[in-house]
Amino acid sequence: NWGNIKGDITFKNVSFAYKEGEKVLDSFNLNVKAGETIALVGETGSGKSTIVNLACRFYEPTEGEILIDGVNYQERSLLWLHSNLGYVLQTPHLFSGTIRENILYGRLDATDEEVIRAAKLVNAHDFIIKMKKGYDTEVGEEGGRLSTGEKQLISFARAILANPRIFILDEATSSVDTETEQLIQNAIRKVLKGRTSFIIAHRLSTIRMADRILVINKGKVGFVNLI
Ligand code: ATP
Ligand code: MG
Repeated sequence: NWGNIKGDITFKNVSFAYKEGEKVLDSFNLNVKAGETIALVGETGSGKSTIVNLACRFYEPTEGEILIDGVNYQERSLLWLHSNLGYVLQTPHLFSGTIRENILYGRLDATDEEVIRAAKLVNAHDFIIKMKKGYDTEVGEEGGRLSTGEKQLISFARAILANPRIFILDEATSSVDTETEQLIQNAIRKVLKGRTSFIIAHRLSTIRMADRILVINKGKVGFVNLI
């Protein structure tokens, strides 16, 4: 039950420039249907992160509009958007506080059991309880001694607990050990299930989870079909 959102997202003639006169996106069109997983691939600097930044409304289109369930997202509140849309970014952001608080973020009503269930589902539970203070470990401003892979798993646990209708993943390019890599792949698979998802994928294993692959090439767009 997703409450008041279906989860259909449309970019309609979206243009965007960080600096005036330097368009990164030029009349970009895309419809992602409710429940669909779309993978964005393409060269560095092609505009992939810009597309998801716009979807998250960290930035807004310079021209054109982004519609959610057919309604321009600017007609809704940012709080509404962010309670229906979850994201795991390339450099996962953890804030100072404990691991538990970081997973709870935005879901302060959740019980300890729910936190643990979310962590188990994304395979974060085992490494968390190996630490002396477990879920009460302070991550510190920069995430303490947690690796990038571990921080991503905590972000996945947060996303699972928040249960957003729309999920966005900007896959980390940094190398992690094969075991963590496998845990992250499994976490991705679980989080994508049943949601509308945008994934910026660098790994073939992630790309293969998509229903559609969108190749971004210097502002131009093409689709390829999964074999
Ligand atoms: P990568 O694969 O390296 O992550 P990307 O496809 O995600 O690349 P974007 O980050 O969307 O590419 O960048 C698209 C263009 O916009 C690039 O030319 C980049 O330099 C520029 N750009 C990105 N972020 C900013 C910003 N905050 N301010 C100014 N220009 C930016
Ligand atoms: Mg990027």
